Amino acid sequence: MTKQLLMGNQAFAHAALEAGVRVVAGYPGTPSSELVETVAHLHEKGAAQGVHVEWSTNEKAALELAAGAAYCGARALFTCKQVGLNVASDALMSLNYVGVKGGAVLFVADDPGPISSQTEQDTRRFASFAKVPVLDPATPEQGFAMMQVAFDLSERYRTPVIVRPTTRICHASTFFDVADQTQARALPEEGFEPDPRWIIFPRRAYLGHGEINDRLKDMAHDFAHDEQFVQFNTMFEGGTSGRSDRAGTPRLGIVAGGVSAAYVQDALSELERRAQKANVSLPVYRFWQVGTPYPFPEDLATSFAAGLERVIVFEELDSVLEDEMLMHAGRTHASYEVLGKYTHDTRDRGENDLDDTLLRLANYLGVDALVGCMSMSEEQESLMAKVPIRPPVLCAGCPHRGSFYAIKRALGKTEAVLCGDIGCYTLGNAAPLEAIDTCLCMGAGITMAQGFSVVEPHKKQVAFVGDSTFFASGLTGVANAVYNGHDITICVLDNSTTAMTGSQPHPGTGVTLMGEHRPPISIEAVLRALGVKCIEHADPLNLEESLAAAQNALNYAGPAALIFKSPCIQIVKPGVPVEIDTEACTGCKKCITEIGCPGIGFDPQARGAKSKERGQAFIDPTLCNGCNLCWQVCPFDAIAPSAPLDTQQTEQSTPVSVHESAVKEARND
Ligand code: SF4
Ligand code: SF4
Repeated sequence: MTKQLLMGNQAFAHAALEAGVRVVAGYPGTPSSELVETVAHLHEKGAAQGVHVEWSTNEKAALELAAGAAYCGARALFTCKQVGLNVASDALMSLNYVGVKGGAVLFVADDPGPISSQTEQDTRRFASFAKVPVLDPATPEQGFAMMQVAFDLSERYRTPVIVRPTTRICHASTFFDVADQTQARALPEEGFEPDPRWIIFPRRAYLGHGEINDRLKDMAHDFAHDEQFVQFNTMFEGGTSGRSDRAGTPRLGIVAGGVSAAYVQDALSELERRAQKANVSLPVYRFWQVGTPYPFPEDLATSFAAGLERVIVFEELDSVLEDEMLMHAGRTHASYEVLGKYTHDTRDRGENDLDDTLLRLANYLGVDALVGCMSMSEEQESLMAKVPIRPPVLCAGCPHRGSFYAIKRALGKTEAVLCGDIGCYTLGNAAPLEAIDTCLCMGAGITMAQGFSVVEPHKKQVAFVGDSTFFASGLTGVANAVYNGHDITICVLDNSTTAMTGSQPHPGTGVTLMGEHRPPISIEAVLRALGVKCIEHADPLNLEESLAAAQNALNYAGPAALIFKSPCIQIVKPGVPVEIDTEACTGCKKCITEIGCPGIGFDPQARGAKSKERGQAFIDPTLCNGCNLCWQVCPFDAIAPSAPLDTQQTEQSTPVSVHESAVKEARND
C-alpha cells in the first residue's frame, strides 16, 4: 500500500480495481471522466492486471458491454455523467429486471450548478425510478469506501448498484492508502450459463418486478442495520445543551445527503466554536447523514425522528430526502415539520456551500444574530462582487471559429436556423459569431434541423455536430434525414478528439484507451454508406476553401454534409503568433467584430498612418496560436502571418499521432 494524494475520481478508480473489477467502460463527461482515464493509466503502467478498460461509443454501448461482462460473473464498472444515464437508461431499466451475476456498478456523477451540463437532474431520482439502489458519498473518502461496498451489494442481491458522487466529491483531492498492484478477480469456472432469466420476456418482467420489490425491502433493512452500510448513515446529537453537563432532548433535526452532509458538519463545528466564543447556548439538535438514499432506510428515519418537532433537509438538486422525510412523517403519523426546498429554507437549485449552509443553520437554530453570521454573509457578497465574470468563449485559434464564420458568410442574408449540439462548439452561439440557435442534447442538432425543415421549409436548416458526438449519437439522425429526404446541411466539425471533456479518443481517431491502433472509422465513409450524396470537405482555417464548400453544401437540395476537418488546438503544437502591421491597420475592428478571437484586442490609444485617432488592433502573443484566420479576414492586409499558411497546415496534419501523445500526457498528469 502507498499513501497518495488523489483526486476523488482517481481514488474511485483505485477502489474499483482493489475490488477486483475486470471490465470498465464509459463515455466521457464532466465530472466523471478521470475515473476511466486513471484505470487506463494504471493498466498501462502494469499496476492493474487483468482489467479491460475502454471509452465506448456512447453510454448505452458502455452499459450493455458492462452488462454482458457481469452476466459472465465478472465485476464490471460503467461510468458516465448524469445526462449520460439518460442515453443508457433503456439498458438500465431492463438490466434491473434481468439482474446480474458479477457485481455491476454504475458510477454516475451528478453536476449541481450545473457547471458543465445541460440539466440539473438528480441520479438519486433516477435510481428510484429504475428501482436500483444508490449510494451517495459526502466526501471522497466515503466514495472510496462506497465503490468497494457497491460490488458486494450488487452480487449479494444480483442488482446493478449506482454510486452517485457530485462534482465536488469527484474533483476534491485528499490522501488515500491505495494498493500498489491490483489483479482483476478470478472469473467463476462456469462462466456465462444460459438461463431463461437472461431473456426479458413480459412474463419474466412480471416475476422480476416482484423480486425487485422484495430485494428493495431487504436492502432498506440492510442500509439501516448492517454495519457495512450504517457507516454511511451517520447520526449524532450536538448543541450546547447536548453536552454531558447540560443534557437535553433534541427538538430540532438536521438531515443531509451528499456533499451537503459535509458542509453541514463543518458548519455545525463552526457554529459550536462561535457559540462558545460568544458565550451563547446552541439548542440541542440531532444530525443524520443519509448516504444510502434509495431504498430509504426507514428504520433509521424512525430512530432519527423520535421526539423531533422540526427537521431541516440539506441536499443538492432534487428534494429526494425531503420527500422521504415528509412521507415518513405521514406513514408514522409523526407531527414533525419538514423544512427544505419546498419551504424555501434551503436552496432549490444549484450547489450548496459552507457559507450559505452556516447562515441557514444559524437561522434554523435561532442563533444567527448572536454568533455574527449576518456579517459573514455580507463579507461573502462583497467578495463575490470583486470576482470578475469571465464569459465562456471558443479558444484562440479554435478551428470551429472558422467553420461557423464560413457558414455565416455563405448564408449571407438567407434565413436559416442553426442547430447546435453538445460540445465545445455550443460556444459558437456567442457574439460575434452567433452561429448556434439551438442546443438540446447529444445528437439532437441533426434531427431537430429536420423538424425545422418540415415546418419552415423556406429557411435553410444547418446542423453542427462534433466528431465524437457524430459517432455517439448522430448516426440515427443522418439515417432519418436520408430516409425521409429532409433538406438539411450537416456540418461535422471534426477536430479529431473529444475536446470538451479532455481530449479523449473516439472511433474516428484510430487509437483506443488501451493504446491499440485500429483503422479510424471514416466519417465520410459512414455518411456515404448512410446514403448522403452531397459531401463537401474544407479546412476551416482556410477561409476561401470553406466558403466554397459551404456554398456547395447549402445549395444542395436534400440532405448534404460538409466535413470541416482541423485538429483541436489542444492536440497539436501551436503555430507562431501573427503580427499587426501598425502602419497598415486602419482600426476598422473587423478582425474583432467578425470572428471574436480572444487573441485579438483593441488599443484605443494606438496611433498609425492609416488608423489616425481610431486606435488599432493588437495581438496577444500569449493567446494567439497563429491559426491565420484573422489574417484572412482583415480587409487591409494589416495582419502578417508569421509562417506561410501551407507550412503550418502541413505541421498540423497529423492529429492521430499527436492525439496519442496527448492522451498519454493526460493520463500521466
Ligand atoms: S491568428 Fe488571429 S484568429 Fe488565429 S489565434 Fe491568432 S489572433 Fe486568433
Ligand atoms: S488588423 Fe485589419 S481588420 Fe483588424 S482593425 Fe486593423 S485593419 Fe481592421
